[in-house]
Amino acid sequence: MTQEAHVTQGPLTTEAGAPVADNQNSETAGVGGPVLVQDQALLEKLAHFNRERIPERIVHARGAGAYGTFTLTRDVSQWTRAKFLSEVGKQTETFLRFSTVAGNLGSADAVRDPRGFALKFYTEEGNYDLVGNNTPVFFIKDAIKFPDFIHTQKRDPYTGSQEADNVWDFWGLSPESTHQVTWLFGDRGIPATLRHMNGYGSHTYQWNNEAGEAFWVKYHFKTDQGIKNLTTEDANQLSGMDPDSHQRDLRESIERGDFPSWTVQVQVMPAADAANYRFNPFDLTKVWPHEDYPPVEIGKLELNRNPENIFAEVEQSIFSPAHFVPGIGPSPDKMLQGRLFAYGDAHRYRVGINADHLPVNRPHATEARTNSRDGALYDGRHAGSKNYEPNSFGGPFQTDKPMWQPTPVTGATGNHEAPSHAEDNDFVQAGDLYRMLSEDEKGRLIDNLAGFISKVSRDDIAERAVNNFRQADGDFGKRLDTAVQALRG
Ligand code: NDP
Repeated sequence: MTQEAHVTQGPLTTEAGAPVADNQNSETAGVGGPVLVQDQALLEKLAHFNRERIPERIVHARGAGAYGTFTLTRDVSQWTRAKFLSEVGKQTETFLRFSTVAGNLGSADAVRDPRGFALKFYTEEGNYDLVGNNTPVFFIKDAIKFPDFIHTQKRDPYTGSQEADNVWDFWGLSPESTHQVTWLFGDRGIPATLRHMNGYGSHTYQWNNEAGEAFWVKYHFKTDQGIKNLTTEDANQLSGMDPDSHQRDLRESIERGDFPSWTVQVQVMPAADAANYRFNPFDLTKVWPHEDYPPVEIGKLELNRNPENIFAEVEQSIFSPAHFVPGIGPSPDKMLQGRLFAYGDAHRYRVGINADHLPVNRPHATEARTNSRDGALYDGRHAGSKNYEPNSFGGPFQTDKPMWQPTPVTGATGNHEAPSHAEDNDFVQAGDLYRMLSEDEKGRLIDNLAGFISKVSRDDIAERAVNNFRQADGDFGKRLDTAVQALRG
């Protein structure tokens, strides 16, 4: 629907519906006299304006979104009993919110930062949220480090700016970040548009079939528009000239009927493979190499409808990796486990306890049936129905059917590191990525890294940062060291 279709007819009113006589002049005591408290239209207007913002997301504040359709193109019932994945040709409505991670709500789009790729499937069994990124890996592998990591990306408490010292101090002391940092400072670190980049579920998830067999899966969304990126110089210019470049590009492409799409693939690992796989399959800083688990094409995602109100549908949209449907579940990935809590908690704080019932967030093909009631902005949807269970008056009942298969565990509780596998270390896949790049790509990666590392105030911070890349690949470390030294003098 176009913006013109929403023109409101009829007299202006107060929030309570009474007509407003004058929206140009506030009511005064005599001509030129002070403004009167009895001018309800004025007081209400100013008070509402003061409350127009809700807290922005601490991370992923800057975003753009669109509705779309997921079409299943391959029968995957051998791996999952999720109904929306049950029949070739079946279509499911979706909402996808893209975002940058570090910037505030009003920050520029064309920056070097991972992009959020948060996808809601409105399935017939409730909403399934796949809260991914445009990168297959992440900087850390345990959620307990997440607030510290984000503090280094955000504004320093003293200077009020992002500081190279904080960023590189943390990354240098967190060698598990080396793979993601290599990815981020490569060409794909600044996508040309939101349409010209891939999405990845990033975490490992569980799929389980009707027979009760469990599989570990990773999702890939490969752009059908082709990968296109911006150079650092072009992005810096665009950020200044057109800070909303990505948001506008997405809206305009959908308005002109040029619907962006992604080919959806999964990598599937039989559950029994996990224990002896060469990498820890639940480590978010690692991919599963394609040669080990080749991606299998399962569907198509198309974005084809713009939101009509950005605040209602994008700002208030909520996603949680804990929103599963039967046949899909979590893995022991420690970052994922932290996110299962943190996303819902963020939304309860930011949007409110009834956020799930806003139009963009509520299930489309089914209804939420709970005994939860009331809270801020409760809409009375349950009317007078009983709000407890068990009850003999009727009401919702448990299914006795878990959504996912149990994961076997052993050992004692403790602040354990995740188990190490034969070829695990923090550098091997960063090295694989570096060696895969063309000579030109390597040159740009080194320039991008050196330009930022050279800004730190202490030699030991720069050296620790460079040393991580040296361990990933000798040539990488040597060239980066030379470039950093040249810039630091
Ligand atoms: P493959 O050669 O089978 O796959 C390499 C993949 O790397 C490509 O399919 C492509 O992913 C991605 N890629 C290509 N160019 C770039 C680039 N400039 N920046 C970032 N990613 C790029 O090798 P492996 O599976 O053994 O992986 C090797 C390395 O590739 C990994 O260490 C990882 O860094 C990177 N990679 C791997 C992915 C995976 O799931 N295995 C996914 C993405 C990156 P795509 O096809 O998704 O565009």
